[in-house]
Amino acid sequence: LDDNIQKAKNYLGRFAQDGVLNHINGEAIAALDGTTFETISPVDLKPLGKVAHGKAADIDLAAKAAKAAFPAWAAMAGDVRKKLLHKIADAIETRAEEIAFVEAMDTGQSLKFMAKAALRGAENFRFFADRAPEARDGKSIRAPGQVNVTTRAPIGPVGIITPWNTPFMLSTWKIAPALAAGCTIVHKPAEFSPLTARLLVEIAEEAGLPKGVWNLVNGLGEDAGKALTEHPLIKAIGFVGESRTGSMIMKQGADTLKRVHFELGGKNPVIVFADADLERAADAAVFMIYSLNGERCTSSSRLLVEASIYDTFTALVAEKAKRIKVGHPLDPETVIGPLVHPVHEKKVLEYIAIGKSEGATVAAGGTKFDGPGGGCYVSPTLFTGANNQMRIAQEEIFGPVLTAIPFTDEAEALAIANDVQYGLTGYLWTSDVTRAFRFTDHLEAGMIWVNSENVRHLPTPFGGVKNSGIGRDGGDWSFDFYMETKNIAFAT
Ligand code: NAD
Repeated sequence: LDDNIQKAKNYLGRFAQDGVLNHINGEAIAALDGTTFETISPVDLKPLGKVAHGKAADIDLAAKAAKAAFPAWAAMAGDVRKKLLHKIADAIETRAEEIAFVEAMDTGQSLKFMAKAALRGAENFRFFADRAPEARDGKSIRAPGQVNVTTRAPIGPVGIITPWNTPFMLSTWKIAPALAAGCTIVHKPAEFSPLTARLLVEIAEEAGLPKGVWNLVNGLGEDAGKALTEHPLIKAIGFVGESRTGSMIMKQGADTLKRVHFELGGKNPVIVFADADLERAADAAVFMIYSLNGERCTSSSRLLVEASIYDTFTALVAEKAKRIKVGHPLDPETVIGPLVHPVHEKKVLEYIAIGKSEGATVAAGGTKFDGPGGGCYVSPTLFTGANNQMRIAQEEIFGPVLTAIPFTDEAEALAIANDVQYGLTGYLWTSDVTRAFRFTDHLEAGMIWVNSENVRHLPTPFGGVKNSGIGRDGGDWSFDFYMETKNIAFAT
């Protein structure tokens, strides 16, 4: 751990010295009005650097740069773009350690997972790089006296707004397809964890990305974020964050008729029937709520268990939760590090207090954790004896807090699972294939895993229903969002 802390200091030194600058038209620059805000590490609440506090004027400059760079970038042959995006992936791999260390200290999410997330960032670039040459392809449709040809073209400069959890990986997931499609971008990362977005744009330009194609403006949601969603030169907004922010963005973008793509919150159920492989199901349930600090949109924060096995199964989960290593995010053994920021820690602890006052039983955790550095640590928490009307069962807590609810039969399990405003993911555990098919057919979620934790296969669609999102990412779905389809009818 001591070696890792020293390494992190070396990687973070540049931010303490130079701050975290914006990046517009190929230049690293301060906010135009010279203001900054501070980003702190959740490990010890000490400052990591002063961040450029961009506002509407910075967004305007960035949007104009993205607009100016658009024609040449959009006209670049797909195979040339493919090579360039692979070069960015190569450069991410070369700097993966630096990215993982910086990310762990900025977010509190553990090195164990951030090291994988950095490499997944490279994989995201490779995945969309390989699809760049076909991005514009359409199809032909014959009609009497007519042949129709459809083609696709990049929509224009787009805005990408990202949240503070796993920010590096999530940014690559949104930005790589935009670039592969031929769009130029303005990225507004989250104010709690802005460091790796700065690394990412630098890496891209060092790999050869033309200036102005990728612009970065740091700032708060209510100023830089809002200005980006309202800017007339920005044709679409790819947003990942809270559902209520999604609503605000829709309103803000209405005057300029923005196209929007939303990946929003979740209250995802794991449903465990008595006929499941219970040991595997318990491991998966524990992994899906406590890894990444529970600060994960696809985390399984509701555990629905068949009544006949409820006590034994929740006891198994509680025992596993108590054994999870909470600690310094740079300790290679740590699973749960400090939560991203004192503001978020307060929110999670308030929900734990709400759960207790609602009458749920604390079967594990339920308290702040006294971790190294004295930062925002919370013990992995399991509530049992809960029902679906409780706020801890309905609202997104976005921390290491799991709420377990019993059900008596399939119909009740389905009713409870669907009785929330969200519908991002679901995880079903049963050995009955017919039931699995029937159940998943009626479960309201964009993505469901049967007898598995969340294992992503990039060509499959990613996104949610209800208040969890609008649109899908992955494979060609991403290109549909970042591109316009044109139909040309030829008379025959
Ligand atoms: P958030 O909505 O508070 O912030 C996300 C981003 O939006 C930040 O960059 C913020 O500055 C910006 N923003 C805030 N107000 C804005 C406004 N009025 N206009 C424009 N931009 C604005 O979310 P968060 O707290 O950073 O992230 C956690 C949330 O993200 C959780 O709800 C989580 O479920 C969700 N999330 C969803 C997915 C998914 O794929 N569905 C993935 C990760 C996180």
